[in-house]
Amino acid sequence: MKALINADLFDFETYKKNQYVLFDKEIIDVGSMDNCPNVDRAYDCKGSIVTPGLVLGHSHIYSTFARGWITRITPNSFEELLQQMWWKLDSGLNHDAIFYSGLVSGIEFIKNGITTVIDHHASGKDILGSLNKLKESICDEMGLRGIFCFETSDRFNISECIEENMSFSENKTDQYAGLFGMHASMTLSNQTLKRIASDTKNLPIHIHVAESIEDQIHSLEKYRKKVIYRLEEYDLLRKESILSHCIHLDENEMDVLAKKDIVIALNPTSNMNNGVGLPNYKRMKEKGLTCILGNDGLGYNFTREFHNFFYSMHHRELSPLAISLEDIKIIIRNQYTYAEKILGCSLGRFEKGYKADFMAIPYIAPTEITKENIMGHFFYGVCDNFRPRDLWCNGILRMKDYEIKTDQEEIYDSARKLSKKLWEEVL
Ligand SMILES: [Zn+2]
Repeated sequence: MKALINADLFDFETYKKNQYVLFDKEIIDVGSMDNCPNVDRAYDCKGSIVTPGLVLGHSHIYSTFARGWITRITPNSFEELLQQMWWKLDSGLNHDAIFYSGLVSGIEFIKNGITTVIDHHASGKDILGSLNKLKESICDEMGLRGIFCFETSDRFNISECIEENMSFSENKTDQYAGLFGMHASMTLSNQTLKRIASDTKNLPIHIHVAESIEDQIHSLEKYRKKVIYRLEEYDLLRKESILSHCIHLDENEMDVLAKKDIVIALNPTSNMNNGVGLPNYKRMKEKGLTCILGNDGLGYNFTREFHNFFYSMHHRELSPLAISLEDIKIIIRNQYTYAEKILGCSLGRFEKGYKADFMAIPYIAPTEITKENIMGHFFYGVCDNFRPRDLWCNGILRMKDYEIKTDQEEIYDSARKLSKKLWEEVL
């Protein structure tokens, strides 16, 4: 039996010092070191804060090969930015490129404490079988959990998009599952929405909503209604769906969402990068909407998102009291709750029966840590230079002393070759 010993456990709600955790795939027992039983394999966590692995709420693994890509872009609108960059890149992705972008991402996720990723995928060359490639790389090879979907869009073959989402989501385990992926209102005709509504059972959707004001303008001009009402008309605001961004929503649209069992994935760093505005989290919170955080595929340092969200909301509201560390805790907890529902297992706590997904992060506190101030230490200290030392997923040690047991050299070398070929093709 494996055990963490001398562990200071923080699950973003409770903080317990000097604990032991017995585990296999799941946590078997937790208690004070005073009562620690004899164990075969003990990992000493002294000097570290131990937290559950993080759940990344909205990502684009395919953007791995955008790093360092020099392509001429002169966008005058958000849609032109998509056309000139992202749609060009994803149009050239095939199974090999998907697999290697998954392997690279898996390594980077582990280094950044992410044990579950919710990904929104697009690849023009290979639609069919693409989600399985992500599953093979992220789940089978790197041992992480993944919730995947393919971005249905009128720029792709709709039948293949539907088939890929539906066939992948047929099989689900506590390690992977599928959602129904859709790009955004502005790239989905009424005919496509009708097909999705009739051919995709009740699979929760994962879609970009009002990321840019153009999504709303397009919907109003073409369909005479705003994005949320379009989705509502086709009964697509299904239970457990993820709506990403939701920056340009009005009060009434938020009211519609407040009545549904859906989550909103906020991605403030990407929003600032794209210059599309920032979500009105304060109002979402007042209306009781459930929010999670994603990084929209912009890098892998997910804890940076906690910081950027916090500061950008203070800036947006012109108030240092606009949101508090309590909000960050709630959002992190929401991420576990959502992933638990989709994967059908218990995540994010140090209790018997919860999955053994956790990490030890070395931290030397310059002031005393207490139950009351632990989130302040986590946010301003641990996240300021976030570097987990050891990480387990499903009870398996995936990173030990900062080292990941995989052929990183081969993976990165292959990734560089594949990306070079891709850039030449899509230029
Ligand atoms: Zn996105």
